[in-house]
Amino acid sequence: MNKKLKIAMLPGDGIGPEVMQETYKIIKIIKKKSNLNLKIKKYDIGGIAIEKWGKALPKKTLKGCEKSHAILLGSVGGPKWEYLPSHQRPEVASLLKIRKYFNLFANLRYSILHPKLYKLSPLKKKIADKGFDILCVRELTSGIYFGQPSLEIKKKNKHYAIDTTIYHKNEIKRIAHIAFQEALKRKKKVTSIDKSNVLQTSKLWKKTVNQVSQNYPEVNLSHLYFDNAVMQIIKNPHSFDVILCPNLIGDIISDECGILTGSIGMLSSASLNEKKFGLYEPAGGTAPDIQGKNLANPIAQILSLALLFKHTFKLNTISKKIKLAIQKTLLKGYRTLDISNGKKFITTDQMGNEIIKSLLEEYNNEKNFISKNI
Ligand code: NAD
Repeated sequence: MNKKLKIAMLPGDGIGPEVMQETYKIIKIIKKKSNLNLKIKKYDIGGIAIEKWGKALPKKTLKGCEKSHAILLGSVGGPKWEYLPSHQRPEVASLLKIRKYFNLFANLRYSILHPKLYKLSPLKKKIADKGFDILCVRELTSGIYFGQPSLEIKKKNKHYAIDTTIYHKNEIKRIAHIAFQEALKRKKKVTSIDKSNVLQTSKLWKKTVNQVSQNYPEVNLSHLYFDNAVMQIIKNPHSFDVILCPNLIGDIISDECGILTGSIGMLSSASLNEKKFGLYEPAGGTAPDIQGKNLANPIAQILSLALLFKHTFKLNTISKKIKLAIQKTLLKGYRTLDISNGKKFITTDQMGNEIIKSLLEEYNNEKNFISKNI
């Protein structure tokens, strides 16, 4: 009997259930074709969970996630819950909470542009047609978003606000190891980004990354200041491989790299802890402007499944098949609204169906290859 592989599926709000539906169709194909003992259980999270259970992250959901090997998440939030105090809003009360609960300190975001798909990118043709494949490794559970104190202070004639950036050496070390280990599987290049010409935390960041690099002599390490990095990425994305960033810098750099591929609807991310337990999700939100219209691009959600197979299940051939099926579908010319450049587009479920056709072609190619070589 195959080992049981358990996924907790959390569609969430807005376009979440729509793009998850297409991903579920892909899962069913993979389960059958690769003969996997996959067990998928669906749980509520975000606004829908507030409506049904009075809590954005119900105990049942958390328990279901604990019992699984990985979490496949849609997205959470929307106008309906914006009136709530910030600590009760779906984004804070479920998303930040679940990341913290599982100690998901490493955020991996892939931005890939196939040279033949250069028209999708907002970059000039002569830059985009070289293509690029960037992995942004962002520290996710420390830095300025979590440092205390974080306060607005009003005193007599003084009114000011404080945010605090703290980085402990061990927090930098563990994320740096992830970046170097990922680089070993790729072009063996790490660019670490900081602001060490000004900030103390960045000085410690740079020193620690240099120390960790001693363990990876095959990997080429370079450093860029944040302000220079944002320019270099636009000028020559092709020259980057793995980009390593502290939390705030990574937030900005990963969005920058992402949009160079054409649309947030094609970007997925993996958030991992030390045991490589992972939460896999699209980079975008619940897109209330297109919710319920069958217009969302399901690629980001389907790619997050590819990341799950790669990082948690270590089934890289299946992960590659999903990625190839997506690329093939795009190369055939199929586009959802967000990447259509005002031209002809197909709906969310049609895109899902086209990706399934390409995926089945991948499986058939494999079968033909095996039978030819026996
Ligand atoms: P958003 O990412 O939802 O939307 C920004 C733009 O990108 C919109 O025009 C939207 O239509 C488009 N877009 C996003 N995903 C798309 C897809 N798959 N296909 C096609 N187009 C897509 O960001 P927002 O409008 O700032 O936020 C909407 C809600 O989502 C808010 O409540 C926000 O807090 C929440 N949010 C959740 C997450 C998450 O769950 N991880 C992330 C970001 C925002």
